[in-house]
Amino acid sequence: MTEINGKTKIVGIIGHPVTHTLSPAIQNAAFSFLKLNYVYVPFDIKPEKLKDAIFSLKTLNIVGFNVTIPHKEDIIPFLDELDETATKIGAVNTVINKNGKFTGYNTDCEGFTETLQKDANFNVENKNAVVIGAGGVARAIVYALLKNKIKKLTIANRTLENARKIADNFKKYFNIGIEILPLDDLSKLSIEIRNADIVINATAVGMEGVNGLLTLENFLHEDLFVFDAIYSKSTPLLTATKIKKIPSMNGLGMLVRQGAKAFKLWTGIDAPIDIMFKSLENI
Ligand code: NAP
Repeated sequence: MTEINGKTKIVGIIGHPVTHTLSPAIQNAAFSFLKLNYVYVPFDIKPEKLKDAIFSLKTLNIVGFNVTIPHKEDIIPFLDELDETATKIGAVNTVINKNGKFTGYNTDCEGFTETLQKDANFNVENKNAVVIGAGGVARAIVYALLKNKIKKLTIANRTLENARKIADNFKKYFNIGIEILPLDDLSKLSIEIRNADIVINATAVGMEGVNGLLTLENFLHEDLFVFDAIYSKSTPLLTATKIKKIPSMNGLGMLVRQGAKAFKLWTGIDAPIDIMFKSLENI
């Protein structure tokens, strides 16, 4: 790690909890490789302390920070400006400090698009997609799919109302009707998945400590690509794709690529993406 001195610039991540975050490893590896005098630190901020935390980070004149669960949507009223993508998505994962004013961005969207294109060689244009989940990451993924001209899009979620909110939000910006389904309507879900080219898990199911089985194994078919936003290499969904020999990918590439976009926003310098990927080799 770069030696900390009086000129060290601070960036970080706010979330609750943050103990499992991989972002410090990724960002500090990049700063160290480029010999930039920055340090990236985690801040565990409880939801009821979010407003105070933003005020404190501004007072400390932090360069910028990432935002993770559960603050991605709730932070918006406390920011001074939002860029266009974050406005449309309705969620922020990166903040930069421009002369004491905090501007919110969403780099999850580009991180997802780039990982599909560069790491999976998958082009979403004119394809059919099923997104499972309707939280912060689902919003960014749905926006990325719509922006990249998906043909048909279905969102399945445990709480149907949350899926409806996303569909209603994006109606304002895109001409494609989004179908919504409750996650337990397995007969409809099986039809949607059988007609899909890509299925995306954007729920927390598969994450350490989150139970809830995505019973999709029987619906998976050989013309499908499966993307699981979870960082783990062996979620139940990914394990099922391996057994069925279906191409799939976990969320690590998206994590690195959204982090690289945030790095560029804070420093103005292109991130050393290979070094960022390398920092995760031993997790
Ligand atoms: P979030 O806003 O809290 O949303 C969580 C989603 O998971 C909701 O759709 C929720 O359904 C669903 N869910 C939670 N527990 C469930 C269960 N037991 N059964 C079924 N559905 C369940 O979280 P998020 O920010 O979208 O993050 C979701 C996942 O994506 C996390 O695991 C996170 O680590 C991962 N992620 C990855 C990246 C990346 O770069 N790869 C970036 C961000 C997040 P309800 O609406 O019914 O509550």
